[in-house]
Amino acid sequence: MQHTLDALDAWRELPIKQQPSWPDSAKVELVSAELASLPPLVFAGEVDDMRYRLGQAAAGNAFLLQGGDCAETFAGATADQIRNRIKTILQMAVVLTYGASMPVVKMGRMAGQFAKPRSSDSETRGDVTLPAFRGEIVNGFDFTEESRTADPSRLLKAYHTAASTLNLIRAFTQGGFADLREVHSWNKGFAANPANKKYEQMAVEIDRAVKFMEAAGADFEELKRVDFFTGHEGLLMDYERPMTRIDSRTGDPYDTSAHFIWVGERTRELDGAHIDFVSKIRNPIGVKLGPTTTPETALALIDKLDPEREPGRLTFITRMGAGKIREALPPLLEAVKASGAQPLWVTDPMHGNGFATPTGYKTRRFDDVVDEVRGFFEAHRAVGTHPGGIHVELTGDDVTECLGGSEAIDEAGLATRYESLCDPRLNHMQSLELAFLVAEELEKR
Ligand code: PEP
Ligand code: MN
Repeated sequence: MQHTLDALDAWRELPIKQQPSWPDSAKVELVSAELASLPPLVFAGEVDDMRYRLGQAAAGNAFLLQGGDCAETFAGATADQIRNRIKTILQMAVVLTYGASMPVVKMGRMAGQFAKPRSSDSETRGDVTLPAFRGEIVNGFDFTEESRTADPSRLLKAYHTAASTLNLIRAFTQGGFADLREVHSWNKGFAANPANKKYEQMAVEIDRAVKFMEAAGADFEELKRVDFFTGHEGLLMDYERPMTRIDSRTGDPYDTSAHFIWVGERTRELDGAHIDFVSKIRNPIGVKLGPTTTPETALALIDKLDPEREPGRLTFITRMGAGKIREALPPLLEAVKASGAQPLWVTDPMHGNGFATPTGYKTRRFDDVVDEVRGFFEAHRAVGTHPGGIHVELTGDDVTECLGGSEAIDEAGLATRYESLCDPRLNHMQSLELAFLVAEELEKR
């Protein structure tokens, strides 16, 4: 046990990036101790179950859908907003299940996605410079000294917000809200909108499939519940480490803040603290890979994070950019395939496609998002590997943060309802449209 704990804390001696400077370290210690004494948010058995399902996806027998906010907020953890996000993910999942003819593993970027990496430690407006906003688990978004000062009591607020979010996720997905026929009826509303006429054909086919299941006597009681997992970027070590517990069944450490933990593009140095920490926990692990990733780096990450080549252990989330994916991804796929390893390959078509408008909005074009997804499928088809999932920033609300889609949001339209504190999200309609387009790609496989 001591050995396990020593290994788990080896990251403390390694170079670490993107951590806040807390003004009061004694207070951080107190909060850490409190976090460590609070109940786990997820259970090790669920985490193992998810790893198994991700293994299925890596082998080409399932598909992963992961979606949610770039940065969750405390105020955004309302019943309505959580419900709308779950609803959107479930609606997308039905379309993808049809397109893939395979189980879709559903995961929210939810119930813990509170910490953000930033390109600069500070932000200057006029002649005032303050610490950058690092997500509500660290500091506030308002540009005042008080709000931007890192406050450790936010770690506890994040835990409790995650707990109540997860509670509602469990209630909605186990309590009848996720009934397949209900979710399907919401999708009919989407397809009936004249703007979405091009998806009518597939919507009709899904409708026939559901009717067929009913006629054939499928057990719809069973289809009332779905398993819904959570994941977030494991960035803030003062949260992730106290949430890590030794499982009494196996003696292994699990980060119980979420089922799935990923390491971001900015903190994935092979010899850095984050990669070392996640190498010691039993959760399924994701690593974001940007366009400068070399085959050697991908192979070294596999050796460090998945030396046993365990199905579902490691997910590579590629975020290359629409203009780069067709060159950048195939060499990685080739090298990993040749090594015999089989990580789960997921596309994040958001983070390589951001830009700012002249009016100062951070945005992405829906068409670029779709183009990156297509490039992802093309690369896998060419190399003979499995395109195993999609990771998107989305909300169930009718925000105007990304350009385009069937509602044709334009630059002037962004101002109508731009709510994200960080990166722009697909809105409800854009998310469903993306699901139909991904389903078309899945049908082609
Ligand atoms: C994110 O997922 O919000 C993010 C910061 O991504 P990346 O690490 O890929 O830049
Ligand atoms: Mn983001």
